[in-house]
Amino acid sequence: MLQEYLLPTTVDSALIMLKDHGGRARLIAGGTDLILQEEKAEKKAQILVDISRIQDLQKIEKKGDALFIGACVTHTEIATSPLVKKHAPALAFSCSCVGGKQIRNIATSRKSSDSIICGCC
Ligand SMILES: Cc1cc2nc3c(=O)[nH]c(=O)nc-3n(C[C@H](O)[C@H](O)[C@H](O)COP(=O)(O)OP(=O)(O)OC[C@H]3O[C@@H](n4cnc5c(N)ncnc54)[C@H](O)[C@@H]3O)c2cc1C
Repeated sequence: MLQEYLLPTTVDSALIMLKDHGGRARLIAGGTDLILQEEKAEKKAQILVDISRIQDLQKIEKKGDALFIGACVTHTEIATSPLVKKHAPALAFSCSCVGGKQIRNIATSRKSSDSIICGCC
């Protein structure tokens, strides 16, 4: 049963929360996969560490030849980002095709099997 829902605002504080709670804590970003996983799980997470408020993980930046997309950037943000559209149009397009609009507005692309393929190219 869920005992705590933690909302860190920095990566360091999220890491400390994970360390302090050991295997009892799980990360949650958009929650579109995790909530379904938890419904089926025999051993449910007791503590959720919600990383969606961490601003450093919400950035899309170009550094040199590389695009850096934070772990909490949503599919909608990637699909509509002028930087991604210019430098990685296939990724922007693939993110615009994932799920429905509500899913794209909340789900992050770090783990999405559809968008990650273009992200790897
Ligand atoms: C109706 C519906 C339609 C969908 N359609 C598609 C689709 O068309 N294509 C597709 O590819 N997927 C689809 N999905 C799956 C899902 O939306 C994607 O996999 C999405 O990318 C998950 O992102 P999230 O932020 O919601 O992850 P969450 O549910 O928050 O997390 C998923 C898992 O990753 C872990 N996690 C989260 N963030 C991190 C992090 N930064 N570091 C390490 N671990 C982390 C969590 O602990 C959890 O185990 C769909 C889901 C639903 C419910």
